[in-house]
Amino acid sequence: MNKFSFMQEELHRLENEGLRIYPRTIESPQGAWLTVDGRKVLNMCSNNYLGFGNHPRLRAAARQAIEEYGVGPTAVRSIAGTMRLHRQLEERLAAFKKVEATLSFQSGFTSNQAIIPILVGDTDTIFSDELNHASIIDGCRLARGKTIRYRHGDATSLESMIRQHGAGRKLIVTDGVFSMDGDLAPLPDIVEVAERYEAIVMVDDAHGEGVIGSHGRGIADHFGLHERVDIEVGTLSKAFGVVGGYIAGSRLLVEFLQQKARPFLFSSAATPADVAACLAAVEILEESDEAVRQLWDNTDYFKNRMRGLGFDLGRSQTPIIPVMIGSAKEASAISRKLFQEGIFAMPIGFPTVPHGQARIRVMISATHTRQDLDFAIERFAQVGRDSVLI
Ligand SMILES: *Cc1c(COP(=O)(O)O)cnc(C)c1O
Repeated sequence: MNKFSFMQEELHRLENEGLRIYPRTIESPQGAWLTVDGRKVLNMCSNNYLGFGNHPRLRAAARQAIEEYGVGPTAVRSIAGTMRLHRQLEERLAAFKKVEATLSFQSGFTSNQAIIPILVGDTDTIFSDELNHASIIDGCRLARGKTIRYRHGDATSLESMIRQHGAGRKLIVTDGVFSMDGDLAPLPDIVEVAERYEAIVMVDDAHGEGVIGSHGRGIADHFGLHERVDIEVGTLSKAFGVVGGYIAGSRLLVEFLQQKARPFLFSSAATPADVAACLAAVEILEESDEAVRQLWDNTDYFKNRMRGLGFDLGRSQTPIIPVMIGSAKEASAISRKLFQEGIFAMPIGFPTVPHGQARIRVMISATHTRQDLDFAIERFAQVGRDSVLI
């Protein structure tokens, strides 16, 4: 026994339950095919929805920004870290999102840490979907006031929680697209409840940005709710292909964030290369929805074929496709078999998803060709039959 034995014990426990994570090492740029631990495999687990992770225009923008502005901001945004590029990105994003203003952050995770704690005080209440992303959960933990969870995707449960616990200011927070199931929040119903109780509505659309809505403008656009969603949190790290996050809403909100948000005040600004690449991504999306349409063609094709083979794809409504397995150990074993067959798709188990609902999560990309998808479907069919899944 020593003071670190708790770590070893926990690692053993994770191993025994099939929950231990072994990150693989990627040795090539992001794309449909990757070199992973020395093998060339079909990539079905990046959030590179539109192929922007290695897009020539983004690469060129990053290179040019390094030449013009160097590599680091060497300051927080509120001191000397706000560069012209940050402002340009924020203006372009506001126009793209059809909101008054946006503020960018170092990541989507950080954006939730920035916003949630400053919206609620001691006597206020957050109403949070029970399947919200870890960064929302942590944002709620940083906030004073209570957090009440409502049943996943259930506006009736939300309303009954507000009736029971709704003293003080009320903040409703939900993922737009749920990252483990690929289903959408029932935003029209949530907004109606919010309006009845004068609650603030915030949606974290990390997996909806660049994916749903016209030209990938996200879930508020998808449902035509631009005027009725108060706060949208987005990431620049998924479909946008780079790294970063942002908050979109009113000018007042952005002014308030610049005074209060701790990651804006106390953590250095995003780098010029990242910001310039994000700006290029927004420009591409404004100009054309070709990549978004390709993404959806690929998604529909893959899902139809997989469902036809008898796979259970859960509640997916988006390019996030859970292939449901059940036990975490079996999901890990199937992921390993798939890898041997040339398919890179990760198993997801507890605590990321509930016990007994382990799955292989497939992420479709616009960069997949029809041949790539056929190859994946054929390998899934083979491994699925061997494992008596289908
Ligand atoms: C991925 C994700 C984030 C984190 O975004 P990063 O930019 O990777 O930090 C936040 N919220 C949700 C809902 C996500 O799916």
